Amino acid sequence: MDLHPGDVVQIDTLLAGIPGMTGVHLIRAERPALIDCGTQTSTAVVAGALTEAGIGADDLAWIVLTHVHLDHCGAAGDLARMFPRAQVVVHPRGARHLADPTRLVAGTHALFGRLAPAIGGLTAIPVERIVEAGEGHVVPLGGGRAVRTVWAPGHARHQMALLDEGEGIMFAADAVGLQLGGGEIYPSIPPPEYDVDAAVNTLDRLEALRPTRLYVSHYGPVADPGEAIDLGRRAQRTIGEAARASHTAAPGDSEALARAVDTAWPSDAATRTPEALTRWMAFKWLDNNVLGLQGMVERESAVP
Ligand SMILES: [Zn+2]
Repeated sequence: MDLHPGDVVQIDTLLAGIPGMTGVHLIRAERPALIDCGTQTSTAVVAGALTEAGIGADDLAWIVLTHVHLDHCGAAGDLARMFPRAQVVVHPRGARHLADPTRLVAGTHALFGRLAPAIGGLTAIPVERIVEAGEGHVVPLGGGRAVRTVWAPGHARHQMALLDEGEGIMFAADAVGLQLGGGEIYPSIPPPEYDVDAAVNTLDRLEALRPTRLYVSHYGPVADPGEAIDLGRRAQRTIGEAARASHTAAPGDSEALARAVDTAWPSDAATRTPEALTRWMAFKWLDNNVLGLQGMVERESAVP
């Protein structure tokens, strides 16, 4: 358990036993909220941290999911059973995957292959426990405190950032990028929905909210929110343009695309320490970026 300003508890989910990969956050308030859950395989770690933070089974009011990727939502079904009063807040596009996770889990396991057991699945959540959050949806935490949803498409269409307005704290999920093991911010571009224009537009909107503190899910608070947002935006714009140019020159050549992207915006700064490289490689996140970009440019060129 790691207590941060604003009564935010940062919980390391120890994804695959590796510290500093994936964080979820508890806001201790009258009506406590857990922002993201981690993978199903991290359920015991997260539940233990909640107990250690003094959250009893009937205390947790909210489980707020930034998006329905299994490294963020996989434990939600099991935690909802363990904390039976918690309502699960999610983007409307994500809600059906919580009620019936079959497709989401199958798609994720197909992408990750032999790594799937380290991720686990997702236990279905009863529809009456699910709250679909529109843009600007307010999640009340009691005592006048609340977090507000900010739709944040790009990384996925069903992504939301959460803003604790009174405290200026933003939970940016994967919109800004990943910062692992002492490396620099670098984008997360997974298939099948990544859209660079939406991602850049999202970062313009997050920047305008001027957060004083900003958390990325992988991993932790950034040193300077404005700088991190700007760096993430420049990286994604540059990488997106390089992918499009490569696709125009050599359609379907994903090796050429990978080279073009790494020339335009080298990943060295993100992977500069052994700790950073280990974490980037553990779940093939750099390879998945190439798949995400390849999918994006193919989708774009399929539009008449
Ligand atoms: Zn993530």
